[in-house]
Amino acid sequence: MYVEVVTSIETRKLNKLFTYELPEELEQKISIGQNVTVPFGKSNKEISAIIIKILPSDYFPTMELKKIIRFNPDKTSLDKNLLKLASFIRDKYFLPFSSVLKLMTIKNIIVKDDYSNKIIFITEKGLAIINGIRKSKKKEILETLKVEGNILFSELIIRGYKKPLIVEMINADILNFENKLLVSNNVNLSIKQKDIYNKIENQMQKEDSINESSVFLLFGATGSGKTEIYFKAIQNSLKNNKQVIVLLPEINLTEQMIGRFESTFPDNVVKWHSQITTIQKMKAWKELVNREKNIIIGPRSAIFTKMSNVGLIIVDEEHDSSYYQQNYPNYNGRDVAIMRGKIDGATIILGSATPSVESMEKVNEGEYELLRLEEKYYGQDNPIVNIVDMSDELHKGNSTIISEALDITIKKKINQGEQILIFINRRGYYNFLMCRDCGNVIKCENCDIPLTYHEKEKKLICHYCDNKIDKQDNCPNCGSKRIRGIGLGTEQALDIIKKKYPNLNVERLDSDIKGGNTKKKTIIQDYKDKKIDILVGTQIIAKGIDFPNVGLIGILLGDMSLNFPDYRAREWTFQILMQVIGRTSRRDKKGEVILQTYHPSDIIYSDIKNFDYQNFYNHELKFRKRHNYPPFGEIVKLQFQGTNRDDLIELVWNSYNTLKIKFQIDEIFQPKPNRIEKFNGNWRWQIIIKFNRNKLTEKEQYLKEFMDNFYINNNNKEMVYIERNPYGLI
Ligand code: ADP
Ligand code: ZN
Ligand code: ZN
Repeated sequence: MYVEVVTSIETRKLNKLFTYELPEELEQKISIGQNVTVPFGKSNKEISAIIIKILPSDYFPTMELKKIIRFNPDKTSLDKNLLKLASFIRDKYFLPFSSVLKLMTIKNIIVKDDYSNKIIFITEKGLAIINGIRKSKKKEILETLKVEGNILFSELIIRGYKKPLIVEMINADILNFENKLLVSNNVNLSIKQKDIYNKIENQMQKEDSINESSVFLLFGATGSGKTEIYFKAIQNSLKNNKQVIVLLPEINLTEQMIGRFESTFPDNVVKWHSQITTIQKMKAWKELVNREKNIIIGPRSAIFTKMSNVGLIIVDEEHDSSYYQQNYPNYNGRDVAIMRGKIDGATIILGSATPSVESMEKVNEGEYELLRLEEKYYGQDNPIVNIVDMSDELHKGNSTIISEALDITIKKKINQGEQILIFINRRGYYNFLMCRDCGNVIKCENCDIPLTYHEKEKKLICHYCDNKIDKQDNCPNCGSKRIRGIGLGTEQALDIIKKKYPNLNVERLDSDIKGGNTKKKTIIQDYKDKKIDILVGTQIIAKGIDFPNVGLIGILLGDMSLNFPDYRAREWTFQILMQVIGRTSRRDKKGEVILQTYHPSDIIYSDIKNFDYQNFYNHELKFRKRHNYPPFGEIVKLQFQGTNRDDLIELVWNSYNTLKIKFQIDEIFQPKPNRIEKFNGNWRWQIIIKFNRNKLTEKEQYLKEFMDNFYINNNNKEMVYIERNPYGLI
């Protein structure tokens, strides 16, 4: 017998399947996904590998093949579905198979199904087939259970029935075991929530019988009651004896959120997180495999957990960028969740207060079903949003970061005993030139994306198409000389606000805060206890934290992320501002928002003011379509790195010339340096490719071959990484 394996060696040079002979004594135990040890290379070094395919019995090798040495039962074996998922991820993200399998593999763990204490009973399906099967051990077991009702698993073993047979019957759903863990605390939905839930339930029932999957996009403001709907859907999944995966963005993995899941499903939740230790992982896997627990909750990596019957996958805050893995191997956890749902026949719920533009397009195309939860559960109104034009302020002689309107409202709210949040979005590192008089930011003519200033060349460069223009001393819009780099952050804002309001207690909350989570928690608690009047912060204050007494939200530089050099800049700006605005959470009074911007005429601000999501999505999708950005086109980034600049540049141009043959002139852009060209001793250049999604397969295959060949032909002095629809192009 011969098998194909993927080795654990991650290099692209060896990105292919290897064929081995399976010694006869191992044939009986063979299955796909198993971890084995094989001799490899000239020295026959022992390495581990995973069996991907058992070759047909008429396969005959043209030369003598090496033999598999042994099975590794102490390493995770993958099942058919996980292998299928791995191959989808490999193809979509141009990754070597071994790198994907590594995401799914856990070292040194022995997980045995332990059913001994489980009470086994016959299912309806079992009762239905009992008369149709011929005399066998299987029939005996079914008949015994039909007569006696429930029997302890260990008792069946004592009576001489074999464990694999009983497990097989459980997996075939003709036997089952009583699961004490199905208990959950009651969830009572409102009429509106029930309407939505019923749609999900109907679909889950249907899918269960035909083993298909559908995707729901649950679109509802923070506090509208999405989580309660998740709970009800989870209960239903458990009732059908299926397991559940819940993905949360890193920042939402708070004790508060997990606590809600745990108290609704006592003793049934496995917590996963990115710093989880091997021991904890082993324990988690064991609990899930043995079905001692049925719900896993964690960040994107939780999607790779081995579970054989997932009935429901929930992706909360599906638009969140933390689902995208920025490091190698790059993948989008939300998209992987959807792939997995389809393979496992699980229902998928994507939840968000501000769904991604991509997901909304899937709704338009009929791939996802939109479920709209309009009001907040407690019925509070939307706040009043005032858009303040900061160039007007300048003309009035106010050159500070606090507009007159914000100043007046701060004083008013403090007098009324309410608290204030001041938000500045300073995510990532961006540095663009903006006219202080008219707010003009210079954009690329071809791409409609802000140009990035490169200090070394003193040029403004487009990070998509490499369009370069000289640094301007005068604003091309109004002629003003007051062109400045923008770099205001929370720290500077804190100083300014403290000086302006010396009698108020002002604090800062962002990820730079020293003292870690403990310190952050103290600040949050102090704010809740009203010891702090004004809290200045980044997106931390926009997510997952419930502040009950916020009367005013001030947004400084509400257009900062609008100028981020990425086609998603407007989407991010809209999402983050909507989330921040959602923090005016007083249940009895209307909140106020002062949104300061230099671009008051940009359509997103009227959409925000009017809470007009539909208009935002329509407008944004038109923009994406016009420029062929995702979800209509695909963007691929090839990131080159090397220690010698001249060699790297030569290589990048050679690669460009090779690739150019396969892509049209408007699909591939000339190589250009990263904004920070030298980083950690490496020079960095990139090539961006953009192509229509209906041309996918052929071009994808070509890119995959390009990647493998690059490493085969190159001496490894330079590296290239590939990303599909990356987050940020700097
Ligand atoms: P979301 O997940 O959309 O942010 P939540 O599910 O957290 O919203 O609901 C917001 C608040 O309303 C929570 O405090 C929650 O306990 C409460 N709530 C929502 N639905 C119900 C319900 N059916 N019964 C009682 N309380 C509810
Ligand atoms: Zn200007
Ligand atoms: Zn451009």
